[in-house]
Amino acid sequence: MTAKPAAAAARATVYGYPRQGQHRELKKAIEGYWKGRVTADALMETARGLRRANWQQLVDAGVHEVPTGDFSYYDHVLDTSVMVGAVPGRHRAAVEADALDGYFAMARGTQDVAPLEMTKWFDTNYHYLVPELGPDTVFAADSAKQVGELKEALALGHTPRPVLVGPVTYLLLAKPAPGVAADFEPLTLLDRLLPVYAEILGDLRAAGAEWVQLDEPALVQDRTPAELNAAERAYRDLGALTDRPKLLVASYFDQLGEALPVLAKAPVDGLALDFTEAAAGNLDALAAAGGLPGKRLVAGVVNGRNIWINDYEKSLATLGTLLGLADRVDVAASCSLLHVPLDAAVERDIDPQILRWLAFAKQKTAEIATLARGLAQGTHTIAAELAANRADLASRAGSAITHDPAVRARSAAVTDADGRRSAPYAKRATAQRAHLGLPLLPTTTIGSFPQTGELRAARADLRAGRIDTAGYEERIRNEIREVIAFQEKAGIDVLVHGEPERNDMVQYFAEQLTGYLATQHGWVQSYGTRYVRPPVLAGDISRPEPMTVRWTTYAQSCTDRPVKGMLTGPVTMLAWSFVRDDQPLGDTARQVALALRDEVADLEAAGTSVIQVDEPALRETLPLRAAGHAAYLAWATEAFRLTTSGVRDRTQIHTHMCYAEFGDIVQAIDDLDADVISLEAARSHMQVARELAAHGYPREAGPGVYDIHSPRVPSAEEAASLLRKGLDAIPAERLWVNPDCGLKTRAWPETRASLENLVAAARTVRAEIPSA
Ligand code: GLN
Ligand code: ZN
Repeated sequence: MTAKPAAAAARATVYGYPRQGQHRELKKAIEGYWKGRVTADALMETARGLRRANWQQLVDAGVHEVPTGDFSYYDHVLDTSVMVGAVPGRHRAAVEADALDGYFAMARGTQDVAPLEMTKWFDTNYHYLVPELGPDTVFAADSAKQVGELKEALALGHTPRPVLVGPVTYLLLAKPAPGVAADFEPLTLLDRLLPVYAEILGDLRAAGAEWVQLDEPALVQDRTPAELNAAERAYRDLGALTDRPKLLVASYFDQLGEALPVLAKAPVDGLALDFTEAAAGNLDALAAAGGLPGKRLVAGVVNGRNIWINDYEKSLATLGTLLGLADRVDVAASCSLLHVPLDAAVERDIDPQILRWLAFAKQKTAEIATLARGLAQGTHTIAAELAANRADLASRAGSAITHDPAVRARSAAVTDADGRRSAPYAKRATAQRAHLGLPLLPTTTIGSFPQTGELRAARADLRAGRIDTAGYEERIRNEIREVIAFQEKAGIDVLVHGEPERNDMVQYFAEQLTGYLATQHGWVQSYGTRYVRPPVLAGDISRPEPMTVRWTTYAQSCTDRPVKGMLTGPVTMLAWSFVRDDQPLGDTARQVALALRDEVADLEAAGTSVIQVDEPALRETLPLRAAGHAAYLAWATEAFRLTTSGVRDRTQIHTHMCYAEFGDIVQAIDDLDADVISLEAARSHMQVARELAAHGYPREAGPGVYDIHSPRVPSAEEAASLLRKGLDAIPAERLWVNPDCGLKTRAWPETRASLENLVAAARTVRAEIPSA
């Protein structure tokens, strides 16, 4: 590769790094602070130490420009709200009394004040705190955190680049504050917000920032002309500031589409774009827009949200093309490395062959540095790395783990008929009614019962060797017996075993499926101090033996009422795991579906008449842009139907969804062809029941009448009135009575009381139905 001027300057950078530290120091310090065991000073010292260590790690790996301001005690969107002074009225007193405690009050609420709402950060599993804005919002610049972290990095001799959530994305992520009209559009506050950003940029410049990064991932979504216009205005105004740092506008998670020419023309100094496969359109769009003459281009060629090694040759080819399109090309991950675990090298239980295919944040940083070096100094300077990379990719492509002939043959042989129940719903419903003999408005729950301290202790005891498998399983059986006994006594119609054996609804299955990998330290921030360890879909998926049958049959042996088998659906398995990047998602989903199909068949053969396949993630996995929806829904519904269609007519298939607005996927929900669906609905006053009715949803549904997200016990009258609302939309023959979701996060006393009230409500409303 010839060293053109652009290439010679190529630098390595990242937009953000995992926050909590190798030993989860930040989580421990924050939780200690909440409990009063760690002082504010000690917490801040821990945070400083982690930032220092992260920057050093980046620099040691060959990163030239380090991010600052990406660190957070809880969430970077909440940090942005603080930075622009958007503190909700109900939290102001707490913030004024103590900035740190006020910050945590906004994040977590207090006895008296509700926290900010939390929701998913685009299509990742990270959750941010939703800014609350209204026509009366007054913004005020508070650059202390950003300036403080910048100065820290400067003092350590680094070249820092502060990273901020951009003003357009900030407003697009916001929602109307409580009491503000629901149709209020936060984006109308742009003119008020821009001067605040201008002031902060000025502060950062004065403190020594040469470059500042403004993240605008909201611009990769479908945007209206008015929104694109707002983006144009924002960057025209910020670009026109005198005495400002150089501005790098960053986008990630997808291609920019219509926003690309807008930003390319803006008077800013650089753009950061995603060039991974998910955003493949950026390359052509950039060329079509005439490139970025006079600007810096930061090329996100290393996937920042998955854990596989980069394909150096492919990335170098992309980078080579980009050299012709911008003044200067730098190399980065496609998005903040916040979304991947810290270090693959500390994993001890992963097959060394597979370990070579994995790259967590630390390994990705090294990849970025290597690519930057190759670009700047010629590929001969990274010959050894290229050869090793080629060998690792070849080992993955040729491995028996990623290519199990039996799994592939079965997958290839799937026919349309495999994804279709043998009879239409009406005929199945008749068979199910005869077989199950349930009353009108049957009652059930979503699956899990309280995960008590004793259950967690039992798992810990098993891990630590204090009890053996037999002792552990005895405790699980005891729990199941109690859960069944309670449900019988409470008068619930379709029982569950309570899922006491499951640590997590995805991990439990991942651990038992061949081709799935668990990590020991692969923690990723979900929200605040909550971290998850997503399993890795590493190879072809198969099921060596049944996974749930013995627990379900044990539960069934304790009662004459039907016990519902409980499985996590294929789409949710993918959504909450790291997925393969060497085959289409639909192919992976199909393999998981076939493994689950066998589990369904085994449950049925063991006498289970009701089987629930949970798909809480169906809605959240919807691609960011509408153009991708149809293809996604096609493979997602196929996978669900493959899982569930092999059963007899009289076997009733349930599904469950939550955490989402379902209005825009009702057709997909219908296409699942499940006999019964339970949905979250209590908080929205049965909104979803009306949406199903408006669509003409033909099968049975249980819109939740008990909000399980709160310890509050709904009264029987309250549940009954929700049920009556449900009946306005769904006829009695097709309406089920259930909570919004599983009960694993609840305690027993409120669970007991709430379910008793739920059964009482069902009885009351049944008595009001003429024919019943
Ligand atoms: N069956 C699961 C449970 O009850 C469903 C959880 C979920 O929807 N997230 O816990
Ligand atoms: Zn749920």
